[in-house]
Amino acid sequence: MRKPIIAGNWKMYKTLSEAVDFVEQVKSQVPANDKVEAVVCAPALFLPTLVEAAKGTDLAIGAQNMHFETEGAFTGEISPTQLADIHVQYVVLGHSERREYFNETDEAVNKKAHAAFAHNLVPIICVGETLEEREAGQTVSKVSSQVKAAIKDLSSEQVAQAVIAYEPIWAIGTGKTATAADANEVCGEVRHAIAEEIGAEVAEKTRIQYGGSVKPANVEELLSMEHIDGALVGGASLEVDSYLKLLEAG
Ligand code: 13P
Repeated sequence: MRKPIIAGNWKMYKTLSEAVDFVEQVKSQVPANDKVEAVVCAPALFLPTLVEAAKGTDLAIGAQNMHFETEGAFTGEISPTQLADIHVQYVVLGHSERREYFNETDEAVNKKAHAAFAHNLVPIICVGETLEEREAGQTVSKVSSQVKAAIKDLSSEQVAQAVIAYEPIWAIGTGKTATAADANEVCGEVRHAIAEEIGAEVAEKTRIQYGGSVKPANVEELLSMEHIDGALVGGASLEVDSYLKLLEAG
């Protein structure tokens, strides 16, 4: 049985005091970790404060990006060592916004995935097709190649622990959700790609999230699907009530 994982991705939203308020309100209401993994991926600037605020609770804190090098002259970047040092547990890698606006490549995502595991961080690796690619019938080939590139040369154990987030780009922040059946079909293809790359037994263990306009009204149906093990949520993770409702569905 794969444990559901619901992760909020706050992107570049909230002030520090708003972020702390959110964690203070949510932390005692989060369902037990043996039922659902609850994660909030916050702006880097807030991470130490939020990790401290959530300490000893079932709410985990994640980062939204990191560099793949342990240290070095990379002005403005944050290393896996630094995230691990402040007890961050998760890191989003290869989000489509980073691929589009910050030139994040499949190769960089793979290096970051290796770096995450080297520092005991769980990577949430994002993949997904554009609307043009979907309309051209390229969804499966695009997503499969992103998945295979991201997990290249990871061990079976690591791939089993990784989280893959399937986020069709046309569904992000648009209010357009993939139907549960469509989302499940592509998540099934993600699992198939993992099986081809590293083996079916491992693929059965890897958790696959759907992301793209997930909200309390559609999360239950999405999570009821065979291959969807959680959600990566932008807009609907910003409000306490809505975030808690998402967790209830887990
Ligand atoms: P929305 O839930 O706002 O569509 O964002 C999805 C997303 O990009 C999460 O990483």
